[in-house]
Amino acid sequence: MQSSRSSCPDCDKRAGVMCIRPSGHRASDFHRARKVEADRQFTAQHGATASIERTAAGWRIDLDGYRRASKPDDRLQLSLSLSL
Ligand SMILES: [Zn+2]
Repeated sequence: MQSSRSSCPDCDKRAGVMCIRPSGHRASDFHRARKVEADRQFTAQHGATASIERTAAGWRIDLDGYRRASKPDDRLQLSLSLSL
């Protein structure tokens, strides 16, 4: 169900593979377009107010977490990193 099961629109890296810089080095972050797409998929699947919360056991989907979140960008980072 993970939202990052998509390839990157910018560098064509497939799902589960980190983005690559033009130089060929592995990027430390995902391309912007990939984050936007991951967020769109996550929102379509779980709703606009959902977020991913870290738990002791790993993570879980909180269907109302996004509304309470102080740092909305955490959702993107975590949703992308789940499939790596
Ligand atoms: Zn990329």
